[in-house]
Amino acid sequence: KVRVRYAPSPTGFLHIGNAQSALFNYLFARHFNGTMVLRIEDTDTKRNVKDGEASQRKNLHWLGIDWDEGPNKPNPKYAPYRQSERNAKGIYHKYIQELLDKGIAYKDYTTEEELQEMRERQRANKEAPHYDGRWYGRSEEDQKAAEAKGLKPTIRFHFPKNHDYEWDDIARGHVSFNSDNLGGDFIIEKSDGMPTYNFAVVVDDHSMDITHVLRGADHISNTPKQIAIYEALGWEHPTFCHIPLIFNPKTRKKLSKRDKDTLQFISEYKRHGYLHEAIFNFIAFLGWSPKGEREIYSKDELIKVYDPDRMSKAPAYFDQKKLDWMNAQYIKQMSVDELTDRTMELVKEGETEEAKRLQSIPEDDLCDIIKKTIHVHQRDVNKLLEVMEYAWSYYNVLDEHFNYDQLVDNEDFNNDDVLAVLNGLKDKLVNGGDDLDYSQAIKEVGKETGIKGRYLYFPLNLAFTGATSAPQIFEIMDIYSRKTDIELLDRMIA
Ligand code: GLU
Repeated sequence: KVRVRYAPSPTGFLHIGNAQSALFNYLFARHFNGTMVLRIEDTDTKRNVKDGEASQRKNLHWLGIDWDEGPNKPNPKYAPYRQSERNAKGIYHKYIQELLDKGIAYKDYTTEEELQEMRERQRANKEAPHYDGRWYGRSEEDQKAAEAKGLKPTIRFHFPKNHDYEWDDIARGHVSFNSDNLGGDFIIEKSDGMPTYNFAVVVDDHSMDITHVLRGADHISNTPKQIAIYEALGWEHPTFCHIPLIFNPKTRKKLSKRDKDTLQFISEYKRHGYLHEAIFNFIAFLGWSPKGEREIYSKDELIKVYDPDRMSKAPAYFDQKKLDWMNAQYIKQMSVDELTDRTMELVKEGETEEAKRLQSIPEDDLCDIIKKTIHVHQRDVNKLLEVMEYAWSYYNVLDEHFNYDQLVDNEDFNNDDVLAVLNGLKDKLVNGGDDLDYSQAIKEVGKETGIKGRYLYFPLNLAFTGATSAPQIFEIMDIYSRKTDIELLDRMIA
């Protein structure tokens, strides 16, 4: 029975890299009818941020990723699900003690200054940095003397010499590391009594019966250390899958939180009006792809076609254009009502300037203007933030600065014709009833004045949008009130 886990450290908010790990675990669990576990790896207390866990959970939910077991859904057989709580119950220390008793783990009283000195000497000798094992096999007197000086030990795991750690990785194939190249004996318990990541993760994956570990490829060099612990405790290790890292196409390096030109946190995508369905689809293609050319897949379809054997080994390049394209596809497929609801939701949350300023519009008017804006722009926007921008400009159309010079300077246009078009349409708006069909009205103006094509439309586009090119102008006219339409024509006539 498949059991997988997503194990975030609450040291920050849900990043696209975390979301990618969560998502592949989710697809794996759902595809194989297994169990998805959420475990909180919060032992690095200094790096934990307030609300880190809550925000991770909220954003996972938004993405459509849920789990069967976790802090909020404990299975008594495996709870608790936060490592800090597990540590308080002595779950890790029990095994640390076992390794101490077996002589595989030992206390290390090296001070920070001594470690610093060690690193400097190794650098000077052009050696790879490593712990030199100076406290391995030391006498009890030495330990007592160190304690008497008030030193607090860390606990290190002792590597056997020249031992290979190997595994068959779902994404990478056969991987092998030699114990001599792993930086020397490593810390499994810090001096504050907290287990390190490499140790806690093994105890938890084992005691939670995890069958498959899918995680970012940045953890590959941790895996041999973890396998060493599994071996030392006489446990079998789960199957590993190291998910390709997401690269920034510009730097050709791992996407970094410092890359300011790319959106990276799930909350940012949300704020900008990317749809969660599109983000889910997009992330599923970071490091994996189904057979064939098709790229638009719903969550359920992805669960069905997900095949771990198609996980890639190469880095996944983050492609903003593709994300925008994909989001646009989802926007095109969605109903105007649903898009309106989602845009209204973003306005209510008010997490962008675009959303905040729309909050000044009375709700009924706002809903109406957003719906009409979507009606006009559903085919040409990539994200709902653009809808919010358009809606604001339509709402404020009378305050906008118009560039009439675009027409006036164009010798092709004759002033009398322009006025004939504007006045002709104004006449229809003033005299037409409530059911006046704007598209029809414009056509009639064309017939009556004999003015056609761009000579008919450019002046109107300019009057209503400030630009000579605009989507369906009769739809835009419909966004405003009749009174505003007339004022806009008047402004240009004058
Ligand atoms: N807490 C680790 C991280 O956030 C999890 C790594 C793992 O899945 O083993 O990177």
